[in-house]
Amino acid sequence: MTGQGLETVSTAKVWTRDSASAEKRSVWTALKRGLRGRCPRCGEGKLFRAFLKVDDHCSVCAQDFTPHRADDLPAYLVIVIVGHLVVPTVLWIETDYSPPVWLQLVKGAVVGVQWALRMHGFDEQNPEP
Ligand SMILES: [Zn+2]
Repeated sequence: MTGQGLETVSTAKVWTRDSASAEKRSVWTALKRGLRGRCPRCGEGKLFRAFLKVDDHCSVCAQDFTPHRADDLPAYLVIVIVGHLVVPTVLWIETDYSPPVWLQLVKGAVVGVQWALRMHGFDEQNPEP
């Protein structure tokens, strides 16, 4: 031991408002480009390489897409939006039109088809455990 303490140099990049790039970014423009499935920076390259699979980088401007962290927010937003459209529609149909019970009860038809096709436990020759 030489008695000298080890000196470590951190290479981690710490984001602060002062260290942020001077590049101006319009949230509205980026949102519109993202809705079109295009690169938020140039608006030309494709954002997705497959269905809901974000590409690693833009094929036009080489913007790196790997830092994105969308996680469950897209699924959450879809559920909130669809829920606000579907639930009132179902309630409106139920209260204004009162469809007959037979129309609402398709479960009986499903059970009938399963019985006819000897599915699940309906096959006497090969009962499921
Ligand atoms: Zn781009």
